[in-house]
Parts: sequence; structure tokens; C-alpha cells
Amino acid sequence: MKKTETEKMFGKFLCSDDVLKKYMDRKTFAKYLKTKETEGELDALVARKIAKAMKTWACENGATHYSHWFSPLTGKTAEKQVSFIEVDKNGKLVEDFSEKSLIKGEADASSFPNGGERVTFEARGYTVWDYTSPAFIKEDKAGNRTLYIPTAFCSYNGTALDEKTPLLRAIESLNRESLRVLKGLGYDDVKKVVCNVGAEQEYFLIKKKDFDKRSDLKVLGRTLVGAKPIKSQEINSHYFGVIDDGINSFMHDVDKELWKMGVMAKIQHNEVAPAQHELVPIFCPANIASDQNQVIMEVIKNVAKRHGFEALFHEKPFANMNGSGKHINWSLSTDTGVNLIDSNIKDRRLFLLFFTSMIAGIDRYYKVVRASTAHRGNDLRLGGNEAPPTLVSMFVGENIEKILDSADMKVKNKTKYLETRVASLPKMKKDYCDRNRTSPFAYTGNKFEFRMVGSSQSIAWPSTCICTIVAKVLKEIADKLDKADNVMEAADKIVKENISNHRRIVFNGNGYDKEWAEEAAKRGLVEYKSCFDCLSVLDDKDVLDLFEETNVLDRGEVCLRKSTFAKAYAETVKIESLTMLELLHKDIYPSLYKFVGDLSNSIKLDADGKNGARSDMKEKILGALDKLYAKGEKLKSNLNVLDGEEDLLKKALFAKDNLAVELEEVRKIYDDIEAILPNYLEPFPTYNDILF
Ligand code: ADP
Ligand code: MG
Repeated sequence: MKKTETEKMFGKFLCSDDVLKKYMDRKTFAKYLKTKETEGELDALVARKIAKAMKTWACENGATHYSHWFSPLTGKTAEKQVSFIEVDKNGKLVEDFSEKSLIKGEADASSFPNGGERVTFEARGYTVWDYTSPAFIKEDKAGNRTLYIPTAFCSYNGTALDEKTPLLRAIESLNRESLRVLKGLGYDDVKKVVCNVGAEQEYFLIKKKDFDKRSDLKVLGRTLVGAKPIKSQEINSHYFGVIDDGINSFMHDVDKELWKMGVMAKIQHNEVAPAQHELVPIFCPANIASDQNQVIMEVIKNVAKRHGFEALFHEKPFANMNGSGKHINWSLSTDTGVNLIDSNIKDRRLFLLFFTSMIAGIDRYYKVVRASTAHRGNDLRLGGNEAPPTLVSMFVGENIEKILDSADMKVKNKTKYLETRVASLPKMKKDYCDRNRTSPFAYTGNKFEFRMVGSSQSIAWPSTCICTIVAKVLKEIADKLDKADNVMEAADKIVKENISNHRRIVFNGNGYDKEWAEEAAKRGLVEYKSCFDCLSVLDDKDVLDLFEETNVLDRGEVCLRKSTFAKAYAETVKIESLTMLELLHKDIYPSLYKFVGDLSNSIKLDADGKNGARSDMKEKILGALDKLYAKGEKLKSNLNVLDGEEDLLKKALFAKDNLAVELEEVRKIYDDIEAILPNYLEPFPTYNDILF
């Protein structure tokens, strides 16, 4: 059959195994595949041949450069472009790419977040090729092409300085422990267990001309002030609404770019808030999904610019409106094609053992789950406008509830049909259970949807935490099964224990209800309200043990993360405060002075003295100006205090309790005034201008 245009386009820029096969000899390629099956260490000769194959393919496809591509702890990716040119022994210029260049790169580790504990003369860091995530070519708008090679980033001593290294360790650990449990239950044929992830990406798309006029959007990707628009999201008109022609062109271009790079972009639609959208790729192994999610964000950003838009990935670009999240859909599958948390798998014991282990894991380490989503942007989102609450719980649906009630392995899923009461509409099986939009961690029949993750975050860290937690629980189970005389009985006992000991984390009701917060407290569940509250979690002994025993992060690496998060929090609030001051001085004050001037002139010119309304207005503006000025000066002096604080945790706490609070106070004063400012004096585009 002839290939469709999309099929021809798909993977054009992806260095897939099919590409490598074409450019390598059969024996070496077979050796590579064999190593890949178990994700073991790659032979040097194989690596050399892959390097040659990659280079030949990339240059044939117009690439002139390559880049080791990695994810330091900045939430963004990093790269260094290196051309393929080399000088051969005759002094002639040739294009070449050695195995060494493929495997290892060097970067100055002290220039990336490293917890601040390193001294600069020991700053060597390495980027190390990750062959489990395929390389790809990225093309800029002028048509220049570069080969991107996914890499991990570690310090000279092997300390993980990035998002990928812990994720790879967690994936390995989860694979190892899952295999042990499966072996215990007699599944000897399974060679590999893979954690699959599908990340739904929400974002806002606004006109570039509005974006350019607001320094808060330019610097922070969010608005610091802005009165509520006349029409907001109350009448539910945007979610799945008709896609505007211009947005549609943008979305199709995004899909095409992603398809070329081998990203299976599948769904695009309008989201709940005005100007908010979502892109969903088809799920794939967690490590690749994590790299692809970075590519998705980069492509959305670049294509948006080409269409005269700016894409915003901030968790809360506009107050009082839906924020943006990134739902991580998570499941666990064997290489024999069994999804271990699919409620329909035949072996009920297998399903229940893995499923209840997830419940046990999330209950034991829900604070880690919460902490994995903690950063300043998400603080502004969680707990409001359709975002999940900051309190972690799991939704499992009524079928599973029945099983948990009876601990009966034999309860089967009943097929239910949709009742439309229209004869001509087809009879349709219903989904396993209804949705629960208020649940942070919701089961949907064959996967969990982790909905707390922020839209700007790398999905690597939350994925790492979930994989680690499940690996830890499975490790303990495997140890028990190893020692058991009757493995099946032992497995059934573990299921019952998982249910009786950890059911408190299951909650199927409305996560926004006040009563739930009270009930959760009775169950002993702690709510970690802010990012700052989550930082202390990383000091807890059980958390340090969790990461250490699973070989994901040693104590130093956890500490490094903690100080990096604290620093990022304080720095972000500092930049927000500086931006607020800039808005006040450059935009807001001048506009208010002008308004007061115009009102004074108008009052002066008024011969009959009937100027009550204008005098009132003038007083109001003057009053607001005084209040704004006082708050602005407070912000300035607190910025000095912040700068003087050396201790990173104290700094973050000070930022949270002072600057972050003052920013909200300034916003409140200005937003009231913005609503009554005449059009000709608006200092920058308003929510009405930007969103509609
Ligand atoms: P929703 O209906 O919640 O908005 P979407 O259809 O937007 O969900 O996205 C669902 C995501 O879950 C997709 O990325 C999809 O590929 C992924 N997904 C589906 N099945 C699995 C699975 N078994 N494991 C992991 N992810 C999955
Ligand atoms: Mg979706």
C-alpha cells in the first residue's frame, strides 16, 4: 500500500532503530538490539558503528552540527552546538563524528544548578549519551539542521545534576523489582517491564503584539496584575470549542513539526480558560516521553512565534482563571504485552498485587508525590480553578472500591452500556469508571492520571518519584515472595494487607469539599500547602531511605535537589518582585499621574463647579497611588533583606512570607483601579485585550 503524506513525513528527522539498521552491518545492529532489550552496557565497537551511522544519516539529511542535549535542574533543556567538521591527517577539512563525541561531552557544571555546594575549580561535568532515547534532527525556521543527542548530565564524581539520570535509575529499579515479583508469580517469560507515560500538555496562546507590551509576560510568562475580564470562563464556551482558523493553522503546523521528529502528537483542543489549549501525544516509555515533552514545549513555542503568537507554559498566567497543568498518565507493562495495572487482565491476582502496591506506595509516600510537583508556579495553581487540591488522594472508581470493600479477588468488571434513549444512536460500552477532575491521582481503568504536575515542569522528576515509590514497594514484596513457602498465598496476603493498611489514601468524592479536608486530617493525611512546605519533606529519613535503597538518589543528591528548589523559589519570587517594580515605575505610575492630571485640568476648566464625580475619581486614584507607592517601597526594602540572607531555606521562607504576599497586595490595589481606567490610559493590554 502507498504511504500517506503523514506516514512519509513521520520520523523523517528521527534517528530510529530502522535508520540505524539501514546504516549499520547486520551483526553489529543485532548486537545493539540485544543490548537494548535489557538496557545493559553498550559495547565500544557497537557505539563506534552507531556514531558512524548517526553521522552519515544526519549529514545526508542536511545536518551540519550535533548537540549533546540535556536537562539540568532548570526545568529547561541545555545544548552546545558542535559542527561535524574535523581536520584529517592531510590537513583537509572533513565531516566526521567519533564514538567518543557521541558518548561523552563536557560542560561546566558550576554554571548549572548544583546545589551551591561545589567549588568552582572542581566544576567539571559530563554529558553522557542515553541510547534508550533516540536522537533527532531539529530544524530552525531558516532550514538549518542540527542532530540532537539525548544525554544525562553528571558531575565529575557521578552526582546527578539533571532530570534524566535519576529517571533512568528509577526506571531500572522499577524494572528490576517488577521482574522479581513476576518471577515469583511464575512469569518467567517476561524479560522487561516498562513504565509508560502519556503527558497531556496545557498551555496558553496569546498574540505576540500583546505579549510584547507587558514586561510581566516577557520576563515571567505570567501576568502580575490584571482586572478580571467582563466575560471569563463562567459560561463554559472554550473547552472543546470551535478552533479559530489562525489557531488551527498553528496546531496543524505544530503536529507536522512533531511528527517529523518522531513525536506522536495525537490530540489538540481548546481548554477551559479562554486562549488555553492542550496537546496530547500517544504514550511511550517514560524516559522518551520525558524528552519528547521537552521537544513538544520547544516546538509549540517556536511555531507560535512563526504564527504571530506567544505560547505561555506558566502554571498560572492569568489570575482567577484556569491554570495550566501537565497530566501524567502512568502505567506499567511487560514486554509480553501485559499492562500490569489494567483491571481487565485475566490473572486477577497479578492485577491486584500490582494495583494495590500502587495504593500502598502512594499512601506511604504521598508527601513525595506532592513534593514532586512543588515549585513557585504550581503554588499559584494548585487548589484553585479546576486544578487538583494540594492534598494528595487517589480516585479508583466504584468497581475497584467494591474489590477493596470485600478484598474479593473474584469481583469482575461488569460491562455497562450508555443509555441515550435514541434508537438510531449506536449501542456503546461505557468506560470503566467516570472521571473525577478533582482528584490529584485518578485511576481510569488501565492507567493512573497524575494531575498535580505543573505545565512548565519537566515530567522527569514526578515520573522519577512515582517509579521510585512503586519500585520500593515491589522490592519489599519481592523479598517476601522470595521467602514464602506458598507464593500464591503470600501474594494474596500482601494484597489484603495493602488494602487494609493503605486504603485511607483512596477517596472517590469531590476533592474540593471542605469535609474531605477534615476527613483526610482524621485519616492522618497531611496537606502540604506550599512548595516551601514540601522542601522539608526531602529531609525526612524515610524519604532519604526511599531514594537510597532504590539506588535512585543518594543523600547528597537529594540535598542538592532541595537546595536547588529552595534557590529557584527565592530567585523566582525575587524576579517577580523586580518585575512588579518595573511595571509600577515604567507603566502604572505614569498612567495614573496622567489620569490625575487630566482630571485636575477638567475640574479646573469647569466653570459651574459641578465636579463631584471627577473629584471623587481623582481622590480615588490619588489614594491608590499612595497605597501602591507604599507597597512598592516595602517591596524594595524587602528585596534588600532577601539579598542579605545567605541561608537558602531561610531565603525561600522569607520570599514566601513577605514578597509573595506583598505582590498579591499590590495586585489587589491595582486591579481595582484598572477596572475604572479609561481606555486611552491603560498602561498595557488588559485581560480583555489579551484573552478575547
Ligand atoms: P483525557 O481524556 O484525560 O483528557 P487524553 O486523551 O487527553 O486524556 O490523554 C490521555 C493520555 O494517556 C494520552 O497521552 C494517551 O496516550 C495516554 N495513555 C493511554 N493509555 C495509556 C497507558 N496504558 N499508559 C500510559 N498512558 C496511556
Ligand atoms: Mg486531555
